[in-house]
Amino acid sequence: MVKVVKFGGSSLADAEQVKKVAAIVLSEETRRYVVPSAPGKRFSGDTKVTDMLYSCFHKAEKGGDFSETFKEIENRYDSIISGLGLEISLKEEYDKIKKTLCEDPDADYCASRGEYLNGIILAAFLGYAFLDAAELIVFDQDGTLDSPSTYKRIKKALEKTERAVIPGFYGADENGRIKTFSRGGSDITGSIIARGVNADIYENWTDVSGYLMADPRIVENPHEIPVITYKELRELSYMGASVFHEDAVFPVREAGIPINIRNTNRPEDRGTMIVEHTSVRAPYTITGIAGKPGFVVINLEKDQMNSELGFCRKVLEVFEKNGVSLEHMPSGIDT
Ligand code: ASP
Repeated sequence: MVKVVKFGGSSLADAEQVKKVAAIVLSEETRRYVVPSAPGKRFSGDTKVTDMLYSCFHKAEKGGDFSETFKEIENRYDSIISGLGLEISLKEEYDKIKKTLCEDPDADYCASRGEYLNGIILAAFLGYAFLDAAELIVFDQDGTLDSPSTYKRIKKALEKTERAVIPGFYGADENGRIKTFSRGGSDITGSIIARGVNADIYENWTDVSGYLMADPRIVENPHEIPVITYKELRELSYMGASVFHEDAVFPVREAGIPINIRNTNRPEDRGTMIVEHTSVRAPYTITGIAGKPGFVVINLEKDQMNSELGFCRKVLEVFEKNGVSLEHMPSGIDT
């Protein structure tokens, strides 16, 4: 049995959280491959390391001074290292990043360092090997994943590595240039690694005990969703249930690997299982409700439009020509 376990930013925000993560990983032999995010928010109002890195890049790009923000980043990592009682130093890594920021600033490279540095720390604390995602996750020149090369590399590298930490969120193109997925993309890395090693399960550890039927900020005490299908999950994620990156479903889904959303702060909770088909007879007809603001509704009226051949195509063409993507098109006979 092999489990791939991914931990989100809030699960790795400080040394205390990293200790919880290590306890979870080491409590089961099967948790062999670990994918970390960059340190996230420690409290509301805090700044994620990834956001600080983007801010350094934006300053560096304009030839500005990023040293103060970068120092804050160094302090975050150094306090994790000392809080864990580790003997390692990331000084050389910091120097290399700062040098690159001055000489050849690149947004993807810079943002990816959050996961990279966190991976080094976590690997040292767990006593696992550290494998740089730049060697495993291959991007095409257009920024999309080169799946055949990626899976070939993962298979080759992980076949000989019993236990490893692989940082999330980034990879590299054939020339070694770092590329990232979209924000929250460590979920995608975890899914790719799970597929690459043909894992039995992909555990995705975060700060909630799985999916809820509704947004708890709007609905009081919504029920948890114990089992949900990949398809339902994609719809809910896309519509705003932001627990899991909507694109992270594809790699594991192709291989039929279930995803288990778990809570780092409540490891005893079973969380939500995401599967192809659910045989659990749901007590409710509706799995969950999510919503997304900012939509525009356009209402068209034309008598007997239902019988005019090609009417919908003409309407859709207008949207297409104007670069507007359409989400939903209910219709009646005259509307
Ligand atoms: N650290 C990246 C972000 O903040 C990726 C991730 O956390 O999954 O978007």
